[in-house]
Amino acid sequence: MNTSSKTAAVIGAGFGGLALAIRLQSAGIQTQVFEKRDKPGGRAYVYTDDGFTFDAGPTVITDPDCLEQLWELSGRKLSDYVTLLPVTPFYQLCWEDGYRFDYANDQAEIDRQIALKSPQDVDGYRRFLAYSEDVYREGYEKLGTVPFLNFWSMIKVAPQLVRLESHRSVYSKVSQFIRDDQLRQAFSFHSLLVGGNPFATSSIYALIHALERKGGVWFAKGGTGALIAGMVRLLEDLGGRVHLNAEIDRIEIEGERAKAVVLKDGARHAFDQIASNSDVVHTYAHMLRGTARGESQGKALAKKRHSMSLFVIYFGLKTKHPELKHHMVLFGKRYRELISEIFGTDGLAEDFSLYLHAPSVTDDSLAPEGSSAYYVLSPVPHLGTADIDWAVEGPKYRDRILRYLNDRYIPGLLDDLVTVRHFTPFDFRDELNAHHGSAFSVEPILTQSAWFRPHNRDDKISNLYVVGAGTHPGAGIPGVVGSAKATAGIMIEDAGR
Ligand SMILES: Cc1cc2nc3c(=O)[nH]c(=O)nc-3n(C[C@H](O)[C@H](O)[C@H](O)COP(=O)(O)OP(=O)(O)OC[C@H]3O[C@@H](n4cnc5c(N)ncnc54)[C@H](O)[C@@H]3O)c2cc1C
Repeated sequence: MNTSSKTAAVIGAGFGGLALAIRLQSAGIQTQVFEKRDKPGGRAYVYTDDGFTFDAGPTVITDPDCLEQLWELSGRKLSDYVTLLPVTPFYQLCWEDGYRFDYANDQAEIDRQIALKSPQDVDGYRRFLAYSEDVYREGYEKLGTVPFLNFWSMIKVAPQLVRLESHRSVYSKVSQFIRDDQLRQAFSFHSLLVGGNPFATSSIYALIHALERKGGVWFAKGGTGALIAGMVRLLEDLGGRVHLNAEIDRIEIEGERAKAVVLKDGARHAFDQIASNSDVVHTYAHMLRGTARGESQGKALAKKRHSMSLFVIYFGLKTKHPELKHHMVLFGKRYRELISEIFGTDGLAEDFSLYLHAPSVTDDSLAPEGSSAYYVLSPVPHLGTADIDWAVEGPKYRDRILRYLNDRYIPGLLDDLVTVRHFTPFDFRDELNAHHGSAFSVEPILTQSAWFRPHNRDDKISNLYVVGAGTHPGAGIPGVVGSAKATAGIMIEDAGR
């Protein structure tokens, strides 16, 4: 197949866009990435403030094999570009009553902790793990990188979906095996990491548990930003290019073909194939505005249910806290009720559940000597659910969360604060062009999964493609890197025609 005379544009340098560009360039397609912001990474942007390095988004690296494959395509090795460090425990889960569960990749240790908390659940956990491994094989290994381009592809997987009871929610499935309330939370919260409500998301997403147990939880030395830098270097070593500060305003269409990308400054670049890693609603409603396809698909996608947003605070302390764990989930007073409000109520709850990232525990290169770097995130409603003025509420919410951490988990935080910044749903909307400021794009519920997500190749415009969190299989690094494999497969085949 001769693809070397073909050219492709990828709009957006998120994990999905970069992984796609690496695959295309490795196959000989001359690929250029156009990124709106001044740095690559998308959700995995990096802030450097007062000597601290803050990863803006993803920090839990799972399924390193899906990344390794990107280097293997050209006979290279990921370890020559980036060092991945194992994280132990995977997470520490904390509740307000003082109960803590160290979720480690150690069966004996998990059994010991479950037996202490709820002896009857030891066996139930084993059965949950077996279920999770089953969905992992069916949902991730077999289907995670398959492009669902027609309805038949969906019909073919229907028997497996029925057998795995995918119509049930993650929480309902976990509850079938585990009785203890806190352990139910411990094994069901994971879908939130990819924007799914555990009470509504298909039990297929219970596969995340097996994915972590199988491939481990890793951290890139120097932060996730170092992994992004490694991907950019790999792409450039292969001959591809990344343009920064290069916002695409329009995709030019002629008949049923995409012709060119037009930048905000008016510059026009023609390509044989165009793929968008930008938000799917933005891609159709904005970049294809004025075209019949853009108008209809933009409206249809805007009507879908979108994942919640996040409020994220990045902060540096002049002290160290080795007593913390790298990844901590801090459950608040309420679980079901709080999640239900985040996904469906106009307003901001008084209480919160938080994810605390304390990377200095694993890697001391992220903060000045004797100091430590953090971020804490709180899931919040997106702007279509709650009309909150984050310019006003943001600083107040930030102070409430920092006070809570100071009082419960990091004594002295408020006195030791050296630097702090926050990112709100407004920023997801304005910086990342995310519809409603959603943090994870189209919500992963059964009726919006696989074929029901935007297709990797547009149904009408034959050389226009999408990749990233809004497509199959969905958000999260393994998800978007999987979507890049699916999209690249079609683009490479199309280019060879
Ligand atoms: C705070 C946070 C924490 C997370 N933690 C984890 C985690 O620990 N582990 C995990 O696996 N996942 C995590 N996720 C999810 C994961 O980060 C995302 O699902 C994934 O990174 C999204 O990648 P993407 O390829 O869809 O692109 P994105 O990262 O969304 O990137 C899209 C890019 O397109 C650019 N763009 C948009 N419009 C234009 C335009 N018009 N022209 C040019 N460029 C444009 C944007 O600037 C952006 O760079 C987290 C997400 C967030 C927000």
